[in-house]
Amino acid sequence: MIGIWVLGDQLDPLHAALAAHNPSDARVLLIESSSVLQQYRYHRQKLVLVWSALRHFAAELRQQGWMVDLVEARSFEEALKDWLAEHQISELHLMEPAERPFREGIERLPLPIPLVWHLSNAFLWSRDEFGAWAAPYKQLRMELFYREGRKRFGVLMSSDGQPLGGQWNFDQENRKAPPKGLVGPEPLVFEPDELTLAVIAKVDQLAQELEAASESGLPGISAPFGWAVTRSQALAVLEHFICTRLDGFGPFQDAMVSGQPTLWHALLSPYLNIGLLQPLEVIRRLEQAGLERGTPLACLEGVIRQILGWREYTHGLYWWFGADYPARNHFGADLSLPDWLERLEGSGMSCMDTVLAEIEISGYAHHIQRLMVLANYGLIAGLDPQAFTAWFHRMFIDGYDWVMQTNVLGMGLFADGGLLASKPYAASGSYINRMSNYCKGCSYNPKQRSGPDACPFNSLYWDFLARNQEGLRRNHRMGLVMKQLERIPDDELAAIRSTAAAHRVI
Ligand SMILES: Cc1cc2nc3c(=O)[nH]c(=O)nc-3n(C[C@H](O)[C@H](O)[C@H](O)COP(=O)(O)OP(=O)(O)OC[C@H]3O[C@@H](n4cnc5c(N)ncnc54)[C@H](O)[C@@H]3O)c2cc1C
Ligand code: SF4
Repeated sequence: MIGIWVLGDQLDPLHAALAAHNPSDARVLLIESSSVLQQYRYHRQKLVLVWSALRHFAAELRQQGWMVDLVEARSFEEALKDWLAEHQISELHLMEPAERPFREGIERLPLPIPLVWHLSNAFLWSRDEFGAWAAPYKQLRMELFYREGRKRFGVLMSSDGQPLGGQWNFDQENRKAPPKGLVGPEPLVFEPDELTLAVIAKVDQLAQELEAASESGLPGISAPFGWAVTRSQALAVLEHFICTRLDGFGPFQDAMVSGQPTLWHALLSPYLNIGLLQPLEVIRRLEQAGLERGTPLACLEGVIRQILGWREYTHGLYWWFGADYPARNHFGADLSLPDWLERLEGSGMSCMDTVLAEIEISGYAHHIQRLMVLANYGLIAGLDPQAFTAWFHRMFIDGYDWVMQTNVLGMGLFADGGLLASKPYAASGSYINRMSNYCKGCSYNPKQRSGPDACPFNSLYWDFLARNQEGLRRNHRMGLVMKQLERIPDDELAAIRSTAAAHRVI
């Protein structure tokens, strides 16, 4: 009997190994293993999402006539070996995992039968295709990759081969600060069904067992839980996004507003990353709906760039940069993570505590909160990049190794020394003050850069530039801010740096 092992982030009806077989000639295995918690204490909402989606997917496959075994286990290896023996599987078929550690883990398993790998269809560019694109360049640029993707898949292109609207990128129209009282459309949420309620109970039980064994429990809350767990629900999220937020996507993409965690963001990454939605179907549907609705091109192009550009690019780079990428630490940053990151509260910084409270509830924060509040803090405070990347991986509803390494380590923390970003995304409190309403409720002063009331983002920012000035001066894109640093009188810089040092020991 042929066996097909479908991984938890491959819940795609067009899964390559399923597509290569018929229900009558293969048996399908899905493993719900709590061993994942030995490596990472995942956010409860993420565990509920993946395990509930797994159970729903198993039920759907059964309806289609597949023989499916969903095994709850404490170890992938034991579950797999038992299943292979019980069902006399002669050949195990898998679709390429998106994550390198998982692929290596499977290959290390001493299995008595041959493994057959199927190319992944979870991304539009295969690893080889991305490599062929990247090889000739000394410095890779997302914009060039994105244009290649637009041409290759014929997205938002005119019949004469030019980009629709005569321009590839409308990003400059998408950087607006939030006006007072900005309120975004409500996201679509779902009532948990019986299957999901059972998973919520299981996750809470696991958390209790860990706590009872005096170990750290699981972060976040498990209920209320409103994420989609089936393909049809995920498609409904896509349609809801089109109807309520597509036409407004972009202008306030960088805005951050208390009480408005999602604004016009698409909320599609959790589903794209576990296979409930496929990237090309989402892109084509957005293009078709946007053109029919007369969505402003800046909005339509803006969201398509995220999926056809950034998502594919970060995945391609993850494999292109190689296995030693995750160990990089360009600035030699080694500060341990502060306790409040684990507790998801209590930093005393209004911006940080607002974002952490939102993560506690849903496992979600939008891109600018991730980049300019969380990662920016890690960068300028000098948090250990590997520890902080692992924190992101555990806390986010859409966190997976392939997307974490390039986004957190590369884009957010510049720990790769500029392989991904041309300069560090470091910013002081002025940026957060301009792009959010967080500072109004904060006990720190966003205009001050030294002393006990100074915004920590200010003192840490200048301290970061001073601490790393030798290297940063070599980056021509940092020229202007390094000149500003030089203009700060010595005694003021000393006061700023001692304020930063006091913050960094907390
Ligand atoms: C520090 C940091 C950590 C991040 N962690 C994750 C993560 O764990 N998982 C994850 O999927 N994305 C991550 N991202 C990328 C991006 O922030 C999220 O994809 C996005 O916020 C998801 O929310 P959304 O679906 O509402 O996205 P929108 O902002 O509405 O964007 C639409 C879609 O574009 C894709 N996308 C946009 N930007 C990126 C990007 N940089 N990399 C990959 N895909 C992108 C996503 O699929 C997303 O669903 C991270 C970015 C940073 C800076
Ligand atoms: S003052 Fe500083 S710490 Fe407080 S919310 Fe503003 S940026 Fe954040």
